[in-house]
Amino acid sequence: MNRKDLESLRSLLTQEKERLEQELTEIRSGNHEQVPSGAGGEAAYRTHMADSATETFERERDLSLEENVRNMLEGVTSALARVEKGTYGVCDVCGEPIAVERLKALPYADMCIECKKKEEAW
Ligand SMILES: [Zn+2]
Repeated sequence: MNRKDLESLRSLLTQEKERLEQELTEIRSGNHEQVPSGAGGEAAYRTHMADSATETFERERDLSLEENVRNMLEGVTSALARVEKGTYGVCDVCGEPIAVERLKALPYADMCIECKKKEEAW
């Protein structure tokens, strides 16, 4: 991987980290699903009709969304740490370089495509 690729991937990762951190904050504060105020009767009706099953579903959906974002954030953070250490772009499993094309599509990939395929085949 050349210096230019590394720099552009690093800035991709930095942007992604900021975006994910913001998303996590929004999920935690519940802003992402706020019902617009002033919608009038309909919102009140929905609140009234919300049964416990719906509430449980909403909570679980929020949890899995948060978990998802947190996992991605973890991946991005450790990828940035690998950039600092100079081990970024090397497969965690076989130690071979990960294809730049793959990293551009998935900047926080820590496995080359062959090892990922093997892992998914299990
Ligand atoms: Zn590998």
